Order: sequence, then C-alpha cells, then structure tokens
Amino acid sequence: MSQTVRVALNRPLRRLFDYSAPDHPELKPGQRVRIPFGPRTATGLVVETGVTPPEGITLKPVGAAHEPWPALPPETLKLLSWASGYYQHPLGECLFMALPPALRKGRPAELKDTDSWWMANSNASADNLPGNAYKQKQLFDLFQGRAQAMAWSQLRQSGFTRSQLQALVDRSLIREVGAPESQTPAKTETVAIPTLTEAQRSAASALPERHGFSATLLYGITGSGKTELYLHYLERELGEDGQALVLVPEINLTPQTVARFRKYFGDRIVVWHSALNDRQRLDTWLRVRQGEPVILIGTRSGVLLPFTGLQAVVVDEEHDSSYKQGEGFRYSARDLAVFRARENQCPVILGSATPSLESLQNAASGKYLRVDLTERVGEARPPQLRLLDIRSRPLAGGLSRPAMEQIRATLAANQQVLVYINRRGFAPVLMCFDCGYIAECPHCDTHLTYHRRDRALRCHHCDYQQPAFTQCPKCSGDACQPVGQGTEQSEETLAASFPGVPVIRIDRDSTQRKGSIQAILKQVNSGEPCILVGTQMVAKGHDFPNVTLVVVVNADGGLFSVDFRAPEQMVQTLLQVSGRAGRGTKPGQVLIQTCHSDHPLLTTIARDDYLAVARQLLAEREQNSLPPFRAMAVVRAEAPTMEAALTFLDQVRNDLPGDNLDIWGPLPATLARKAGRHRAQLVLQSASRGNLNRVLAQLCAHLDQQRLPTGLRWLVDVDPLET
Ligand code: ADP
Ligand code: ZN
Repeated sequence: MSQTVRVALNRPLRRLFDYSAPDHPELKPGQRVRIPFGPRTATGLVVETGVTPPEGITLKPVGAAHEPWPALPPETLKLLSWASGYYQHPLGECLFMALPPALRKGRPAELKDTDSWWMANSNASADNLPGNAYKQKQLFDLFQGRAQAMAWSQLRQSGFTRSQLQALVDRSLIREVGAPESQTPAKTETVAIPTLTEAQRSAASALPERHGFSATLLYGITGSGKTELYLHYLERELGEDGQALVLVPEINLTPQTVARFRKYFGDRIVVWHSALNDRQRLDTWLRVRQGEPVILIGTRSGVLLPFTGLQAVVVDEEHDSSYKQGEGFRYSARDLAVFRARENQCPVILGSATPSLESLQNAASGKYLRVDLTERVGEARPPQLRLLDIRSRPLAGGLSRPAMEQIRATLAANQQVLVYINRRGFAPVLMCFDCGYIAECPHCDTHLTYHRRDRALRCHHCDYQQPAFTQCPKCSGDACQPVGQGTEQSEETLAASFPGVPVIRIDRDSTQRKGSIQAILKQVNSGEPCILVGTQMVAKGHDFPNVTLVVVVNADGGLFSVDFRAPEQMVQTLLQVSGRAGRGTKPGQVLIQTCHSDHPLLTTIARDDYLAVARQLLAEREQNSLPPFRAMAVVRAEAPTMEAALTFLDQVRNDLPGDNLDIWGPLPATLARKAGRHRAQLVLQSASRGNLNRVLAQLCAHLDQQRLPTGLRWLVDVDPLET
C-alpha cells in the first residue's frame, strides 16, 4: 500500500515536506531517510506517517531509509516537538540537534570498520579488572599478544562488543589509534566510597522514590556533599537496566566529578561534552540509543539524547547560565530535563547552593519539593565573609594592602589562596592619559582588552585583534596606559610580591591547550601553598581542600547593571566563589573588595545567607512584574544599521495584539553593535505563558511570510537570560 510521509530537514525552515513512500510501507516516525531535495539528496527525519496526500500534486518518492530503526525514539520526538513549539525554533533544526554530527551528515549509524585500538602503554596490566569481567580480560589478552593495532572489524568478528572495548579505554588499558587524548580521567584514584553524614542521610531519605514524576530542588550549601548525595541516590533508586542523565555545567573543568561517578558505577558512566570528537559522540549516542543502562554525565546538549529507559535525572548547579543555549535553538537544558522527567514518570533533582529564582519560586509554590542540606561535610564549616571597602585604598594589581597581608599570612600557614576577577587579560581598557582616547573595537561598541603577555588588544565579543601600542593614535602622545584589572595583571603583581610561590592563572586563555586544566588541578590538589587567579572558571564546582582564603577583587560589577538578572547572577557567582574556601579541615575566609560596602545586597551576601538574598530579589521581581512572576520573551533583530533594526521591530510591535501583553521597546541591545551588526530588541511579557506562546507562534508564522529588508535577521528568545 502506498503511503505519504512528512519529513523534517536540518534547515531553518518552519515547515515540513511531504513525500510519497510507495516502496516503504514500514517507515516509522523518527527514522532517517534519504530524500530528493532540489537538485540534490538530503537526509531527512520522518515525523509523521500515513499523511493524507494533497490532491492534484504528485509527490516525489522518498529514497531508502538509512537504517531500519528510528534514530529518534517516540519520547525524544515528543520532547523536541514540544521544545520546538515552546522556543519557537524550526522543528527540523531541533530534531537534528538530537543526532550526533555524523548522523546529521547522513553517515551510517555504526562505527567505522577501520577504527582501531592498541595497548595504551607497554606496562598496562589487567590486574585491576573486576574479577567477573571475563570478556574484558579476554579482550585485553588479545591486545597483549599483538604488535600492532586491531581494527573494529576484526574485534567484532572475534565476538567483542563496543562496550567491552570502551571499558578498557576507560581504564586506560588500551587507546584508540589516532584518537585525541582521552577526555576523561582514568579510574585510577582509589577513593573509598564514604558513608553519608547525618545531614546527608536525612536529605537522602527526603528524596522521592524512583516511581512516578517528581521534581526536587536540592538546596545544599557549598561543600555540603551534593555530589555524594546524587551518587547515593542513583545507587539506591536506579534499576539495573535503567538509564540516568546527570547534567553538569562544564565537564572539562571538574574531571574529579566524573572520576567520583566512575568509582561508584564503573563502566556504566558515559560522558557527553563539546570536546568529544565526532566518533566519540557517535559512540556514546549509540550506547544511549540502544538502551544500554548507562549513566550519562553531560553538558547542556546531553538533555537531547535519545534515551529509551530514563529512570532518574539530576541537574547539578541548576542555576548555571550555561544550561541555556545562547544561539540558534535557545533551549534551557534544565527546563527540558524537567519536561523529560515528567514524560518518563521519573524523578528529577535540581541541585545548587545558589538556586535560580525560578526554581526557588517553583518550590515556594509547591510545584517542586525542596530538600535542604545546610551543613558542610565533616569538620568543614561555612567560610567567613568580610566586605573590604577599597574606596580610598591604594591598590596593586587590583589588590588592597589588607588583602595582600591576608594572602601572605595564608601562604605562611602553608595554605592556598584563590583570587577571583571577572575579567581575563591584563586590563579592560587602554587609555591615553594626555587626551583621553580609549582603544575601541572597530566592529563592536566596546573597549578592547589589553593582553600584555601577547602585547595585543583584543575584542572579547568578536575575534578582532591588533598589536598593542603606547603612542596615542589620536594625539600622538606617548601616554597610552592600561586601566582597570584583569587576571594577567593580578597574576603579575602576585608573582612579584610572592617570589617562590606558584601563581596559577585559570581563565579561558590559560586553559585553551588540551590537558592544561588537568595539570593545574594536579598542582592544586598537591596541597602545596599556591595562589590561584581566575575568572568565573574557578568558581565552578571545584573542591580544593587546602584553599582557605578567597579574595574577590571587585564585587561591584552586577550592582548597577540594567539587566534585571544581573544582581541574581552576581550573588550566585560571589557565593559560589566564596564556597571554594575552607572545604577541608581548616576554616575558610572570604574577602570581598568593594566600593559600596554599605549596599544592602552586599551586606546581605556578607551574611552568607543565600536564601535571604533570594527572598529580597524575588520580592523585587514580583513588585516589578518580572520573571518568574511573568513569562518573558525577547524578539531580537540585527541589521546593517540601527535604524533598520529599530524600524523592523517597530513594525513587529504594531502587529502585536495589545491585550494581555506588556511590550517594552524597541531599544538598542546592551551591546548595540557586535561584529559590525546593529542589534535591537523588543521585550514581551505576559501573565499567561500560554498567551505569550500563542502570540509568539503567530508572530513567527507572520514574519516567515514577510520579505525582510536586506541583511536583517530576527529571532525569538523565550525565557531569555539577557535582556
Ligand atoms: P558540593 O558539591 O555540595 O559542593 P561535594 O559533593 O563536592 O560538595 O563534597 C565536598 C567534599 O566532601 C568532597 O571532597 C567529597 O568527597 C567530600 N564528601 C562528601 N560527602 C562525604 C561523606 N559522607 N564523607 C566523607 N567525605 C565526603
Ligand atoms: Zn569586536
């Protein structure tokens, strides 16, 4: 019987395409098919079968299916269809996001026969393999007797599976030939699995059972042992054949976390993050799709993988802004995780020491359960926070004399120091002290950052860079000097002030090379006195027991920003950074340098009481009718001129219905020009999410029919993090 199928393509088109499928009655939704598209063939995903064919039009026939099974199972299809409607992003692009790059390109859903493996090193030994891992032992023996690498085709013929192979790779016994260095640390450390503390045990008993949907906000202060609790929970609840998803903000920064999971679950752990190559992604994707009982630890896009047996979901550091995709399909992985848990009738745990206001509000309204963990593990106590007013104090490399003295005392006591600055490079501004000229990016409305090490001026918004100079391009004087603080500068000052003490910089510049973060972590974990200097990166989840002093160079960044989320993000970052102090047996101290030591937000933060700050911020949001008390979306436009962008958004505004909708703008974006493009925005809010969603869907459908001015691009950002 002939049938008609509806197919989605990986294109930014808000429409689907119908094909006849006379030779393929067995096609199912979610299957990859080859389709004729214009003069070429493309890979499409079937989204619907048994479609009523349009009258009077002869449809082109689909080609062959790539594989006889649906690449996207029903649950994943449903997730992405929902997300496509919620975030107003074309379905095709959403669906293809759930495929690994190789499958998007139409490659086969299997490993290449020529992929090959060899011994990791000559003294690798099978001694540490678990006693019952017979197949792994056999496989390892096979490698040991060989003088050269073995290809997948050979191994498969010998009856071995990909999981067995991966198990040996994970244990660093063998390695893939030609593959980049393993992204995850081997399971070498022998950390004993600790018994839960009293506080952890009582939190664990409050966490709901596996059966049925539940969403729990785990508010656990820094160092309270949330990770240990997740592990314990998964061990308790996860069935032998169940899958689990653990989302983390950034894997490469915290390889310890993966190591701890491996300690509990061994080969069940698979990872998913941006540093994997296409092959590694396909491999992990296949294991998930084939329903292997994996526990996937992944960054944002891990939430889109085709799980078929999800039994538990964890979102660690749920407040982290990296969970929201900042371009294209602008989904929130945290929110999709909750959706998935509901679909799968399984629990989701959102953990953080500084929960998002959204989640706190959901807990307050009874949508989420809240479980608190408010004691640090063992002898560790919460750090002491102190505001240090620097209004009339001389600074060196951004640091005041009292801060320097504290650093000196900490090092003298054989302990470690962490210095936090929110900017990389040497200085955020290069200015002429004769005429006031400031070096700016020719393509963006922003200053260039001075990087002294490379003697370069760089734009942190586009890729522009130029050599640094001292002679002023405007007045030709010789007085151009850096103004303000960056990580490089503090690093230099500290190195000069404390000769013989290692000063380790952690920012995007210093961690670009593969393995550099591992080397840094190793040095810090040695426990020897040292000074860490870094950006946000140093705040994310690290566990350095010998860091007892944290210095925040300047806390004032978020106090006066126009973005309504800035205070929340500032508080979260400050408390996360502070949370790195005193996690071991010695007490921790935090010095927060500020010019506004009497600011109510800072004085509340100094009491280290996140919930009090959050209550204050939530009250302000409610008063000003902002999220989470309203649903918000932003229509963004960029064009060759600001006028074109604003005119377009004016038109959009005129076309919008007036009732049940608050509209602000159009206004130029905070960064009004980026990479030569002018950017403007229109902010929409509604008390009803359903209403906002309908308005946006109509708007997108309408704009799709419009002829746009040359060079104009628009997009809709639902639940935006930046306004
Ligand atoms: P959080 O993620 O809440 O900041 P972690 O889970 O990283 O905290 O735990 C902090 C430290 O305490 C880690 O070094 C961890 O190994 C240790 N730890 C956690 N729970 C226990 C426990 N029950 N017994 C001993 N050590 C623990
Ligand atoms: Zn720029």
